[in-house]
Amino acid sequence: MIEIRGVHKSFGELTVLRGIDLRIDPGTVTAIIGPSGSGKSTLLRTINHLEQADAGTVTVAGTLIGYRRRGDRLHQLAERDLLRQRSTIGFVFQDFNLFGHLTVLQNVIEAPLSAQRRKRREVEPLARDLLARVGLADKADEYPRRLSGGQQQRVAIARALALQPAVILFDEPTSALDPELVGEVLEVIAELARSGATLVIVTHEIGFARRIADTVAFMDGGQIVESGPPNSVLDHPQHERTRAFLSKVL
Ligand code: ATP
Ligand code: MG
Repeated sequence: MIEIRGVHKSFGELTVLRGIDLRIDPGTVTAIIGPSGSGKSTLLRTINHLEQADAGTVTVAGTLIGYRRRGDRLHQLAERDLLRQRSTIGFVFQDFNLFGHLTVLQNVIEAPLSAQRRKRREVEPLARDLLARVGLADKADEYPRRLSGGQQQRVAIARALALQPAVILFDEPTSALDPELVGEVLEVIAELARSGATLVIVTHEIGFARRIADTVAFMDGGQIVESGPPNSVLDHPQHERTRAFLSKVL
């Protein structure tokens, strides 16, 4: 589903990704863990081209992201094509990023209408179904500021789902929440995982990663140090750096 090959990224002098190779199969959940500054968010953002890699390629569902291939050369996609391409990849941010001037329902239908040019009569019932699925059927006409953080994040998840994305990327979806609101958001994500969605989740919730991930990838210093099933990476790590990290967070 996602194929990341040889991705490098620097910001000026600072090298943040040093050759990332990662394959994510359809219907699997991948948790990315690692210390602050190791490049987790940057990697996630390169998947949907919010950051442009200096080298390497990302393909999602067989589509090369950010470029058009002509012969053996790559040409940058025009902004409009990039937006359309990005709309096949859901992204849920740490701080929700809802549109404050739009209602919950309007937040959910905005991108399907504008970026995907779908019909309102098709999108609105879907949006209401999705709001019901995340437990917010009665909040459709509310504004984001009147919702709790956990409710706002569930709206953000419904908004991502409305794109009918091939994959959903989550960047620390619970780390801005009060502790008592974390569970309701993790439960929605776990339900998505059970339904067979392809998910990539950057998270500090190691217990949650253990519970739902098929693959855990440990990043440090811009590299994936090791990856594999939770019981090998979390319980029997092969690398000293993984052991050192886990000993601090577990
Ligand atoms: P955290 O767990 O704290 O979220 P992270 O693993 O997600 O960390 P990144 O956000 O990917 O780390 O950042 C990796 C490094 O790249 C950091 O040193 C950060 O300061 C730097 N960085 C990220 N984005 C930019 C940017 N747009 N410009 C300059 N430096 C950046
Ligand atoms: Mg981050």
